[in-house]
Amino acid sequence: MKRRSVVVSIHDVSPGTRDRVETMLSELGGLGVERTSLLVVPNHHHRGHFLEDRSFIDWLRGLAQAGHEIVIHGYYHQRQRREQEGTAARLITRVYTADEGEFYDVDEPAAVELVSRAQREFSEAGFQPAGFIAPAWLLSDAGERALCRCGIGYTTRLGTVHDLKTGHVEKSQSLVWSVRSGWRRAMSRAWNRALYAIGAPELLRIGLHPPDITHPGIWRQIRAIIADAATRRVVTTYADWIEAARARGK
Ligand SMILES: [Zn+2]
Repeated sequence: MKRRSVVVSIHDVSPGTRDRVETMLSELGGLGVERTSLLVVPNHHHRGHFLEDRSFIDWLRGLAQAGHEIVIHGYYHQRQRREQEGTAARLITRVYTADEGEFYDVDEPAAVELVSRAQREFSEAGFQPAGFIAPAWLLSDAGERALCRCGIGYTTRLGTVHDLKTGHVEKSQSLVWSVRSGWRRAMSRAWNRALYAIGAPELLRIGLHPPDITHPGIWRQIRAIIADAATRRVVTTYADWIEAARARGK
């Protein structure tokens, strides 16, 4: 019996990335991954709200009914640059995430406003997401307090899965690929190969982004890792893994 689990998540799901995500999901299905955690952005870079795209909502509903999990992934996914920011903030927000750290230094009232607005809108579409995952996994302490106030059940960071109801923090470094430049892709392949070889003790996390599928070398490695993991581990979602962990008293 398989005791260990793997969660494959797809970040940045929105009307603008739907085509790529559909292709990824059909390939993942062929590798034995029929369930993923889908990180949906309500209004990705202000390019159009997901509620305005009925066929997108219908598509998401179908996926949810088939066992995929819908997770809230920021609101706009974009951090406004501040007038005066220190070097560290500039390095993290502009170089590491290319201005995608919407919740990196958000304050509590602003975070409550964005998260509760997202919750209302997902609910209008018929979804009750248990989780919120910040863009680039960057979540300020104030942002985390806001999630608790909004009744969010869990969040994840690059190195942890955090049950906000029980307080349990599961350490597990997510595999994730950076494809913005050639050197990042080379580093990513070496790093993820090593990280997968070390092996996650209990929960293996594989975080995918829509551009991953456009880089053949990267996508080949992702497919190989996922195919291998799916034969050795139970394929689940974050929400179901959290439920099971709670049942085990974690
Ligand atoms: Zn993202």
